[in-house]
Amino acid sequence: MFDKKKRVYRFGGKTAEGDGQMRELLGGKGANLAEMSKLGMPVPAGFTITTECCAEYYSLGGGYTEDLKKEVAQAMKATETIMGKKFGDPSDPLLVSCRSGARSSMPGMMDTILNIGLCSATLPGMIQKTGNPRFVYDAYRRLIMMYSDVVMEKAEGIEPADGQGIRQQLDRMMADLKEKKGYASDTDITAEELKELAEAFKVRIKEVLGVEFPDSAEGKLWGSIGGVFKSWNGKRAIAYRRIEKIPDDWGTAVNVQSMVFGNMGDTSATGVCFSRDAGNGENLFNGEYLINAQGEDVVAGIRTPQQITKLGSQRWAKRAGISEEERAAKYPSMEEAMPEIYAELNGIQEKLENHYHDMQDMEFTVQEGKLWFLQTRNGKRTGTAMVKIAMDLLHEGMIDEKTAILRCEPQKLDELLHPVFDKLALSKAKVITQGLPASPGAACGQIVFHADDAEAWHADGHKVIMVRIETSPEDLAGMSAAEGILTARGGMTSHAAVVARGMGKCCVSGAGGINVNYKNKTVEIDGVVYKEGDYLSLNGTTGQVFAGEIPTKAAELSGDFKELMDLCDKYTKMEVRTNADTPHDAEVARAFGAKGIGLTRTEHMFFDGQKIIAMREMILADSVEGREKALAKLLPYQKADFYGILKAMDGLHVNIRLLDPPLHEFVPHDEAGQQMMAKEMGVSVEDIQKRVLSLSENNPMLGHRGCRLGITFPEITAMQTRAILGAACQLKKEGFDPHPEIMVPLIGILYELKQQKEIIQRVAEEVFAEEGVRIEFEIGTMIEIPRAALTADRIATEAEYFSFGTNDLTQMTFGYSRDDIASFLPAYLEKKILKVDPFQVLDQNGVGQLIKMAVENGRKVRPNLRTGICGEHGGEPSSVKFCAKVGMNYASCSPFRVPIARLAAAQAAVEE
Ligand code: PEP
Ligand code: MG
Repeated sequence: MFDKKKRVYRFGGKTAEGDGQMRELLGGKGANLAEMSKLGMPVPAGFTITTECCAEYYSLGGGYTEDLKKEVAQAMKATETIMGKKFGDPSDPLLVSCRSGARSSMPGMMDTILNIGLCSATLPGMIQKTGNPRFVYDAYRRLIMMYSDVVMEKAEGIEPADGQGIRQQLDRMMADLKEKKGYASDTDITAEELKELAEAFKVRIKEVLGVEFPDSAEGKLWGSIGGVFKSWNGKRAIAYRRIEKIPDDWGTAVNVQSMVFGNMGDTSATGVCFSRDAGNGENLFNGEYLINAQGEDVVAGIRTPQQITKLGSQRWAKRAGISEEERAAKYPSMEEAMPEIYAELNGIQEKLENHYHDMQDMEFTVQEGKLWFLQTRNGKRTGTAMVKIAMDLLHEGMIDEKTAILRCEPQKLDELLHPVFDKLALSKAKVITQGLPASPGAACGQIVFHADDAEAWHADGHKVIMVRIETSPEDLAGMSAAEGILTARGGMTSHAAVVARGMGKCCVSGAGGINVNYKNKTVEIDGVVYKEGDYLSLNGTTGQVFAGEIPTKAAELSGDFKELMDLCDKYTKMEVRTNADTPHDAEVARAFGAKGIGLTRTEHMFFDGQKIIAMREMILADSVEGREKALAKLLPYQKADFYGILKAMDGLHVNIRLLDPPLHEFVPHDEAGQQMMAKEMGVSVEDIQKRVLSLSENNPMLGHRGCRLGITFPEITAMQTRAILGAACQLKKEGFDPHPEIMVPLIGILYELKQQKEIIQRVAEEVFAEEGVRIEFEIGTMIEIPRAALTADRIATEAEYFSFGTNDLTQMTFGYSRDDIASFLPAYLEKKILKVDPFQVLDQNGVGQLIKMAVENGRKVRPNLRTGICGEHGGEPSSVKFCAKVGMNYASCSPFRVPIARLAAAQAAVEE
């Protein structure tokens, strides 16, 4: 059934069977361990079980092939030889860890088991060898805690009641012990107490889970391997894959690696470091470490760690208001406390960055004065850091221009476009406390204390700040719903910080001055109690926390960001326009580099002030004369709107769409509104009500809308044409250079377009004669009905350009109502019928084929036919790339997505 493929790859002793290219098979971590070993890094020896074995494990219903067992045994032997210890040896046991490792990193989402190999047979030997019973029993109780949680509970699919998980129960036992003894820290617990605690743990495990805690080293190794495979399908991992769009079928590799210990006394330490600043991109080696601790202590954010470099430490102290004397004495950097190790580490980080040509995120352990290197990977970073690092690496000659473009994730630019605090309001705001600047940006919202509250409040339309003592992977969905996150504990590499940065979400962590009370849903800061629903504002770039609401304002395109965008323009083949309905939106988009307007929805202009009254009058009139009278009132408003937009986009194309939505959306449905219109028009309320009723449709999105309005009420098309071209003529006379395009929506039949075009052309001649100037303009259509796509060769005989309205095209191709999909989409995603929401990410296989065909067939009859996209997909990177691939001339999206689309378009050109 299973072929003779290689299932296990060894590493360590400065050699490896795999290498860094083998991410698919070995996972990111495994490939890196192999690569690092090959590079001569001091990597503890071990082996990687391939991602293919994950699928194999599931297909065997949770089992292993004989081949795998054999290969693991051989690899373990090789590991033992390199480390000079034997797994399960009573006198000098080799201990190993078992960790997950998917193709792309999923920080904290899957499980890890440490200290495998400790059991009743090996404990005495280990104690003798280390001479440190406290350390050994501490390692043992950690193993018991992790193994019972990951392998005996989670992997068995047991779902305990809230707070009753085995890990939580054991945690509480340990906390109770500390409380009883009056200990402040875990390190206060004695060896004897830890030994007793381990025994008590095993009793509790038997009581709760009904099975004995296994005692053999070998049994625990295989249990752990299975536990890691199963954690691929744990709740957290699945939730994370949804958010990060990681396919479910990749599977995880398992890395079995010799343990080294950072908690063997004051010459031992553990830490995390980055070759550049993951928050702002600064080219400065930085990181955090904890003396006498294990890696999980740093990541869990239980103790607040110290800085690696002296400069970093000094900056940290300054932010925390700690004097230089106090800092040097109490919180020395690694550079000061362990200068030789620091020098070795610094050398390694430099070598690794030069090798990978990217910012590295590294983990290390110092065991009794010897540095062990545990892992390196391309570091997660904020959008700001992403852009700065790419441009810096380019300037340093480490990467070329194309690589710099490809290094930046389009979606991540979003963070650079996020609002910052309004400066004036900020100058008046009061800083109430200070934490670590864990993930940059500004956020303001009402505080909530639990992840599900964050989700619920968000769903009700509130902006929320999630306040926690510390966060765990279970809080993921809440973090995603919040504007920002504030935690009392945790360093820059705590879960909250890493995940928030990944999401591009503002986060202030380790704010020691806040006192969170989950039960009362309050937080006390500097003597003031803030309740759920009160406003706080966070600055994730400085770590400051403010009382109350500080308005935020939009960011701008400058510095590295601008340079990246200019670089994109050098390579891109497809332009980016914007969807804008107001001069302000047009200006914002132009500042972000939009090369024109791809869609102006004229209906959006009718909503404010007097316009809506005239609009309603036009719709409610029951004769041509009545409509014309109302249209005459609307004309000056429309003309003024178009004047503003064409002026803001002077010299660039502006594509204006004729009226599109169902008319009933505009009429008053309430009594007061109807009475007001009756008075305005001098008719009875009953007349108005009758007209309102007659406009209601069973299926308005497929009803009397789009060009069907212009066909039945040609006077609307005439008025809008008059307004557009009248505004353009006026601008031309004032010395401007307007380029209007007039677009007919929702065409399905060539003759719809033909008849609308005749009206537009007739009115155009009238306007030009009246104004005494002519304007070059084009008449095009939207392709948003499948029939239009199917008959594109015919439509192109009349249309000078196509604009793909992928919102409606998706709606009509799938037959999913764009307004009602929310009722079944979650089930479709859950059951994997759909991978993503097709209204967000273009369906390339279906809708995309209609687009491709329409572009090709349209150009057969009109070779220079301009084509673009203006549906929501025009700002979504994978959709933009598809549009570039099929040869569209432009993508058009909302102003704040313009840079994202520009980068995606450039990447499409570079990837070609
Ligand atoms: C579309 O259908 O994609 C489109 C841009 O038009 P609207 O969203 O206004 O229907
Ligand atoms: Mg549409």
